[in-house]
Amino acid sequence: MTYPPAGQRVTRNGITLTARMWAYLEASYTAAGIDPDAFLVVTQGSFRGDDAAEASGSTHDKGGAADLRTWNLPPSTQADLCEVLVVELRRRGGAAWFRDEDHGGMEPHVHVILGPVGSEADLSSGAQSQVHDYEAGRNGLSNKGSDYHPRPTQTPFAYPPLVELEGAYLVDAGRIVDVSGSQANELLEPLNASKGVAPMPYFQGSKPGFDAIVAAFGPIVDS
Ligand SMILES: [Zn+2]
Repeated sequence: MTYPPAGQRVTRNGITLTARMWAYLEASYTAAGIDPDAFLVVTQGSFRGDDAAEASGSTHDKGGAADLRTWNLPPSTQADLCEVLVVELRRRGGAAWFRDEDHGGMEPHVHVILGPVGSEADLSSGAQSQVHDYEAGRNGLSNKGSDYHPRPTQTPFAYPPLVELEGAYLVDAGRIVDVSGSQANELLEPLNASKGVAPMPYFQGSKPGFDAIVAAFGPIVDS
């Protein structure tokens, strides 16, 4: 499995984000139980410069910014899904808020800045200021109000995306070995380094996990 460089700009349907940012959004949707292939629609991306929507100020001028469509999420669970998505975006290092008439006087959408904690560095001054607002427990709006969503512990988004490791099976130099999760991760670190795979992906005994292993290391042989 190969990934473009993290900071490479990738344009889909006229929306430009870094490769890392696309992967971050997809991982957050998946964790929220929302199929990104079906429901991830970015309505405003990054690097907009002078084209950025008036209401967004300068936040989308440079990197790390995205607006996410929410009206297309399944209606019966839409309110819940929006907040679940916001939490998963936050968990991976983003400053994310659901915006609507009551929160910013905007059409409903999720606005997210993947800041330095999430590894996007090239932020506009407006985006940086929203990250600071988030860190200070504020709402990121001009009224400097309080944050209105749950605030999970943040872990920087790992790119390429990690494949979750549950233990059971690992590949060591082409052999399947049976080890616990933490042992497996230790085993794989030098293996990955020797293959030039960085940063370290974690593999599990699932089909996607094995597919990733085969892609990275070649065919699997029983030990
Ligand atoms: Zn926005």
